[in-house]
Amino acid sequence: MTELHYISTRDKNNRVTASQAILKGIAEDGGLYVPTTMPQLSLNWETLQHQSYQEIAFPILKAFLTDFSDEELQYCIHSAYDTTFDDPAIAPVKKVGNAYIMELFHGRTIAFKDMALSILPYLLTTAAQKNQQDKDIVILTATSGDTGKAALAGFADVPHTKIIVFYPKGGVSTIQERQMVTQAGDNTFVYGVKGNFDDAQTMVKKLFNDATLNQTLAEKGFQLSSANSINIGRLCPQVVYYVYAYAQLVKQGALQIGEAMNVVVPTGNFGNILAAYYAKQLGVPIQTLVCASNENDVLVDFFHTGTYNRQRKFEVTSSPSMDILVSSNLERLIFEMTGSNAEETKALMDSLTNNGHYHIEKEVLHSYEEFYAARASQEETAQTIESVLTKENYLLDPHTAVAQCAYTKYQQETKDNTPTVIVSTASPYKFPQSVVSAVKDSDVSALSDQQLIEEVHQLSGVEIPLAVTSVLEAEIRHTRVLEISEMKQSVYDSLNI
Ligand SMILES: *Cc1c(COP(=O)(O)O)cnc(C)c1O
Repeated sequence: MTELHYISTRDKNNRVTASQAILKGIAEDGGLYVPTTMPQLSLNWETLQHQSYQEIAFPILKAFLTDFSDEELQYCIHSAYDTTFDDPAIAPVKKVGNAYIMELFHGRTIAFKDMALSILPYLLTTAAQKNQQDKDIVILTATSGDTGKAALAGFADVPHTKIIVFYPKGGVSTIQERQMVTQAGDNTFVYGVKGNFDDAQTMVKKLFNDATLNQTLAEKGFQLSSANSINIGRLCPQVVYYVYAYAQLVKQGALQIGEAMNVVVPTGNFGNILAAYYAKQLGVPIQTLVCASNENDVLVDFFHTGTYNRQRKFEVTSSPSMDILVSSNLERLIFEMTGSNAEETKALMDSLTNNGHYHIEKEVLHSYEEFYAARASQEETAQTIESVLTKENYLLDPHTAVAQCAYTKYQQETKDNTPTVIVSTASPYKFPQSVVSAVKDSDVSALSDQQLIEEVHQLSGVEIPLAVTSVLEAEIRHTRVLEISEMKQSVYDSLNI
């Protein structure tokens, strides 16, 4: 098998192996690593429909991570997708109304980030060994809520790693904040920052490119790496569940082999939906990819007009993990849209940084017809939660409700009845206040977390996950709140430099 290499979206001469791309996270030139060619797989659905999640993961990851041995991949897969998931299916697919919901929230932090962040530490430490890298890995992450905890849970007490997480103070749910500030592990550091997610993410990107910081860290035996969704070590594991979803629809008799399915993805940083697009290129019969946004609808405008304009009001919504104005992973699609032209991609991204916007020609955009974009307002999101519970007796979290609402709009507009998988990215237990207030007419702000969780239990009939009960009882270990300008110093502080 020929080796697959990765190049930076901003410099084609920046060419690395899969394990090096995982180690680096982001390229030195600020670009994102993309495979030089998309692997093609002959997917045998007769076989795949009977395989477990772990079995399906192997050929998919092998196609992307060609410099990992079979043994290394099996070790990573089986260390990640084990009993820390509370459903043996890992990503169960359930019929709800006229669509199929794929639940990606059965991992340790009850949100979809666990799908990739449970395997990333193993991919990363394996990649370090392969490259004779002797420095301790320092994971630096800005989070809009879910990544932070999922990364902390994945890396806590993993030897030769440290993890530093920045979250927007006041910009995440109470449960999300509690999950992070109670994180155990001597190698974990968590800071609230005074700013929104984009402010924090922009500063983290700057720190990665900060030559002085990197040099000082190297002298002290540390090497920065990213757990954000730009790392191919997160992107590739996410392709797996789209293959799994198709296999499940075949198994459940919803599809004949070869028939198309649609996917609806609640989108923020564009990682999850990009993985669906990669799955399509890999050979999964996916017809439409519905990109669902909340009121931060920068991607919806982009797909409708070709203009990406981050200069707009940042809305704090009931689906905070999608409150994003700069969707980093879109750069990989933009690179493809430019015909793999790194200079042009770099110019567009520079324009985004310097002018706040860029534009892709309509003709180019039109050749990406498989993308359909729709937004859901907060009110529509709440109504969706309520109506799906009433009609289908199934309780959606606000992110999944955004997707469900976008799908309803898609169906109304296109009358397309292709079997559709709605990607459920969080358990309703993660956002109890939004969920309960969507369903109850009364004011719920006086209810304690405990009471809200009890309400979610009553409404959904789903057992309270261990992830929730344990967090309510745990001790708070991380209390520091920083200005954005103090983030760099906090890295030194964390590492005792
Ligand atoms: C991160 C996240 C999203 C957005 O996913 P992207 O890959 O960033 O587009 C959606 N929902 C939840 C619950 C998330 O945690």
